[in-house]
Amino acid sequence: MESVVDIKDYCLEELVSFLSGLGKEGYRAKQIFKWIYQKGAVSFDEMTNLSKDFRRELAERAAIGVLEAERVEVSADGTKKFLFRLEDGAHVESVLIPDDGRATLCVSSQVGCAMGCRFCLTGTFKLERNLRCSEIVGQVCAVRKTDPVTNVVLMGMGEPLANLDNVVRALKIMISADGFQISNRRVTVSTSGLVPEMERLGKAVTVNLAVSLNATTDGQRDLLMPVNRKYPLERLLAACRAFPLPNRRMITFEYVMIRDVNDTMDDAKRLVRLLRGIPAKVNLIPFNEYEGCLFRSPEQGSIDRFHKHLLDKNITVITRASRGADISAACGQLRARLERGATD
Ligand code: SAH
Ligand code: SF4
Repeated sequence: MESVVDIKDYCLEELVSFLSGLGKEGYRAKQIFKWIYQKGAVSFDEMTNLSKDFRRELAERAAIGVLEAERVEVSADGTKKFLFRLEDGAHVESVLIPDDGRATLCVSSQVGCAMGCRFCLTGTFKLERNLRCSEIVGQVCAVRKTDPVTNVVLMGMGEPLANLDNVVRALKIMISADGFQISNRRVTVSTSGLVPEMERLGKAVTVNLAVSLNATTDGQRDLLMPVNRKYPLERLLAACRAFPLPNRRMITFEYVMIRDVNDTMDDAKRLVRLLRGIPAKVNLIPFNEYEGCLFRSPEQGSIDRFHKHLLDKNITVITRASRGADISAACGQLRARLERGATD
């Protein structure tokens, strides 16, 4: 028996070539995409503009994988966390963050993460595996069944650029006019700084970039983020300067503020110097403490001083409120309670 493919593992061009192997015209791929990503079809039978024979043939050779939320938790501030159980029993989560008329879905790209950042709970779980494209777009499909999604950030569990091929496929589906139809100005990939993959991403697809900077000297960053030993600040910032952004967009630099580690005025001043010449905005994220963590959240005074210094230097900055804290939906905390086996 021929092996069955999951249609959601294909971007549009790949589906076109799959269909041409069956002797079908390219525009059929667009029709199938629209059924799946715009009308939410879960079977070929629903695709009434395809002939019955064609639908039968498709059903023999391909499947449409569907992720179903095993659990949904709603936080007091409206943040919603979706827990998915994958075919092999692994779990991933997505978090929907409503904000000012937008609804931003934070999507996972791997089960676990191999990057080993010292402040990150996900980093303490080793990498189990990459998500397939179908499992990345499947998170969006599942959430869209109940909630509108206006923006997507690949900022959930995992390092998206360590799973580049599947992430690029998923991004193409998100921004495609025949796919989810989300503007590329509303789609963001967050990376810890894999320089060669940043270059490849920029060539493959045009979306926003967020870089988890988190430190202002190589010494500091080496300790917090092992990836820095391979791709130090100078190379990382050069890759940022070269990154092809959507029109008039800026790179988001995420900066997790950790008490007595990177929260001083010297850090703030160095940060301003590092970002010179880069269209940059800064997300200050007060470190979220978790059980057994090595670090502490900064004092409000240091956050305010740091924030003000960036503003004074004309850098767009937001201090990110910790959203969904009551359901452990905060950054770097996905999957935590699950692994501890708690059900509260
Ligand atoms: N791997 C990618 C995307 C997922 S991590 C990346 O590193 O960019 C998403 C964000 O959560 C990163 O900016 C990371 O710095 C931040 N983060 C991780 N652990 C955190 C914690 N304990 N408190 C606050 N932010 C954290
Ligand atoms: Fe992985 Fe990002 Fe966490 Fe680093 S911060 S361990 S890259 S998920």
